[in-house]
Amino acid sequence: MSRRVAPPESEGAAGTTRLPEWLETLLSTRFFLACGAHPASPRNECNMFCLDCPSPSPPFCYYCRSHRHQSHRVIQIRRSSYHDVVRVTEVEDVLDISGVQTYVINSAKVLFLNERPQPRGAGAAAGKAAASPYNCQICARALLDPFRFCSLGCKLVDTKTGGRGATVQPGDATNDDAAAAGGSSKNGGARPQGRRRKGIPQRAPFGS
Ligand SMILES: [Zn+2]
Ligand SMILES: [Zn+2]
Ligand SMILES: [Zn+2]
Repeated sequence: MSRRVAPPESEGAAGTTRLPEWLETLLSTRFFLACGAHPASPRNECNMFCLDCPSPSPPFCYYCRSHRHQSHRVIQIRRSSYHDVVRVTEVEDVLDISGVQTYVINSAKVLFLNERPQPRGAGAAAGKAAASPYNCQICARALLDPFRFCSLGCKLVDTKTGGRGATVQPGDATNDDAAAAGGSSKNGGARPQGRRRKGIPQRAPFGS
């Protein structure tokens, strides 16, 4: 019997989102370096990413796009305060961006690719004024609106770690990078010592 095995995704997949394989490459790519093929051209920063070339595909510039990716689906990466963003209109059809905070920058709706480092000491008194009822479920960044994630990167972390029993793909070399990137957020717990000593905690006496 040559029955085709149904993909296991059909079972009650409410809430679980599948993210395309190229997303991980996109998030770990360094953009805005000068293109080696067009070193003397004015628009040579590599801020384009191709969805149709086999992954992992390196970023490329404006000129490379017209040469080699003319009929391909290409996403343009933009920058906001040194962080990579993408326009919602460019990715909403190819990516499930639900749950990710959108921002309006230069009158366009954008998403951040990756988690951004957060200002130190934002807790306690300083944070009170800026406190938000919404926080990223992965990095705890305060969000403007009731979204779950600050960035595509945090959503990817959630998809990989949460969901259903964290599927480990053998032989997937790119996994290491992503894991390291995700793990770095744990180092944020290194809090300065001293300062916050308030004497010896007193034990409430029992009885009486
Ligand atoms: Zn180029
Ligand atoms: Zn291409
Ligand atoms: Zn986050």
